[in-house]
Amino acid sequence: MKYNDGPMKRKRSKSIEVIRRMEADARRYIWHPFTQMAEWEKGTPLIIERGEGIHLYDIHGKRYLDGVSSIWVNLHGHRKAAMDRAIKNQINKIAHSTLLGLTNIPAIRLAKKLVALAPPGLTKVFFSDNGSTAMEVALKIAFQYWHHRGRTQKTKFLSLVNAYHGDTIGSVSLGGIELFHGTYSPLLFPTHKVGAPYCYRCFLSKTYPECRLACADEVETVLSRHHQEIAAVVIEPMIQGAAGMLTWPPGYLKRIRDLCTRYRVLMIADEVFTGFGRTGTMFACEHEGVTPDLMAIAKGLTGGYLPLAATLAAGEIYDAFLGEYREFKTFFHGHSYTGNQLGCAAALANIEIFEKERVLERLKPKIETLARFLKPLKDHPNVGEVRQIGLIAAVELVKDRIKKVPFPLEERWGYRVAGEALKRGMILRPLGNVVPLLPPLSVTIPQLKKMVAILIESIRAVTTAD
Ligand SMILES: *Cc1c(COP(=O)(O)O)cnc(C)c1O
Repeated sequence: MKYNDGPMKRKRSKSIEVIRRMEADARRYIWHPFTQMAEWEKGTPLIIERGEGIHLYDIHGKRYLDGVSSIWVNLHGHRKAAMDRAIKNQINKIAHSTLLGLTNIPAIRLAKKLVALAPPGLTKVFFSDNGSTAMEVALKIAFQYWHHRGRTQKTKFLSLVNAYHGDTIGSVSLGGIELFHGTYSPLLFPTHKVGAPYCYRCFLSKTYPECRLACADEVETVLSRHHQEIAAVVIEPMIQGAAGMLTWPPGYLKRIRDLCTRYRVLMIADEVFTGFGRTGTMFACEHEGVTPDLMAIAKGLTGGYLPLAATLAAGEIYDAFLGEYREFKTFFHGHSYTGNQLGCAAALANIEIFEKERVLERLKPKIETLARFLKPLKDHPNVGEVRQIGLIAAVELVKDRIKKVPFPLEERWGYRVAGEALKRGMILRPLGNVVPLLPPLSVTIPQLKKMVAILIESIRAVTTAD
């Protein structure tokens, strides 16, 4: 079938009948994550057929900018030749064998690489297959570590308000986003929840830097009272992502590390989102020269190609699990696909791209340019704050800029902006009233300019229409 409808559209690979049938099946069979399905069933699903660089192509051949890096995972673009090649080479050998009782070549190579890359002191790698699970592993290790050390009263965790650590029950227990986590509260274990830095809406009504990080003093207050029963402090270093890309003031992360050391509790850094260059450094902990005791990584680990995750542990923690078999100090945990060869091969290729293409170095001008392009938004009457760290940008929309009055969530301003962006050829996914923009790290400066221009136009289109 011939199809000629402007420069954005290419030849369809499928007939319109095949497409209609697939759209019907898309409504009928899949239950989508974080999606009101009644609404989904009424809409026309956006069916992706392929990708190329920072673009996705739908089943009609229409092209979109991947403005969310396929939900924060993609780093070097889609169909990156070196990534594709590494996976094809691996599949010619083997796709998967277990890590229970055996090991494999890509897993060994990757573990060695990760230890070399990670903040110093993290010397052991426990593989799993998604970020939530990497956090579950960290929680169980932290708990069991204290058990082995004879500190059996250390069974609790300190986590932050606005935290997001995944969707499994343990990681939801650590979560602090009412909309996502509130429903499940009867199922969850209690944690010590402390207010988190969110300078635009400071829970202590203070201003940085005059506040002298009073929010960190709150952590200290809880630790000083309860450290005897606390196994670990759990944080998302430098930025709380899912809560709305809430960036941290300088010094907070370092203070948390110092407090954990002083009160003898472990520090678990959830770098699932921030790891692999997202914030401008390989890991966000590097911004303040911090080494956590346990660190979870996932999203960018395979460059956005395959589900693989890992929990890195300090040698001292690992050592506490050593003993005679009959002591049962073993870490009794593992998943079917732990150490999957294809995933590990993808992760190795990802890391090699960072090295060969000097990804972090080449990120610097992009980060500065992104900040410059975003500037015009700061004067918009419905923009409360524009936040950025590395190649993460986010716009918090407000009803009243002076009084910082938020839009009611049910009015779905974030969604409206994303809808306008889609019309202009860019995929965005809002977090309530916050609209994040997260290009793949491989984005070029002209592409970045285009993405920000679409973001700005979409915000204007929505806010002036009202
Ligand atoms: C995405 C995310 C998770 C959960 O990872 P999944 O792979 O989706 O299970 C955990 N922590 C943070 C900070 C995340 O952004």
